[in-house]
Amino acid sequence: MRGFVNGLLLGILLAGFLFLFNFLSIAKIRLIWQNSTARLSELTGLQNLAIAQAVKDGNYHCCINPPCTMCFWQGNKWNYNTPGTCDCDAFIARGEEACPQCARGEKEGKCGGSSGVSTSSSPTSCLFVPQSFTRSGA
Ligand SMILES: [Zn+2]
Repeated sequence: MRGFVNGLLLGILLAGFLFLFNFLSIAKIRLIWQNSTARLSELTGLQNLAIAQAVKDGNYHCCINPPCTMCFWQGNKWNYNTPGTCDCDAFIARGEEACPQCARGEKEGKCGGSSGVSTSSSPTSCLFVPQSFTRSGA
């Protein structure tokens, strides 16, 4: 009888753990014990991972490196209102203004995104686009 009760308790514990784990991903569990500074760096890390994946998947065509975060978090003109995507380099290629974060990045010399746009002749601006520049869907 005692073995049965112990087994039952263990089962309830395990079920409870699995139930909790279902709602709290490992990332969320980690956040619980962190202060706000640690949380910020944890979330920034996750954000960068997600953006890197979006670049890999071909959904993030940003003109600066590291890529902008603005287009990742909000729908805007530069991602055609689809958060998680970015099309700033197509805007640059058409001679239009990139998103404000990219525009600032340009001035700081952070040019060079997923398209591999070279700025060797104009290191502080992304506006130099080589003739060979092409991008599907642009
Ligand atoms: Zn951008």
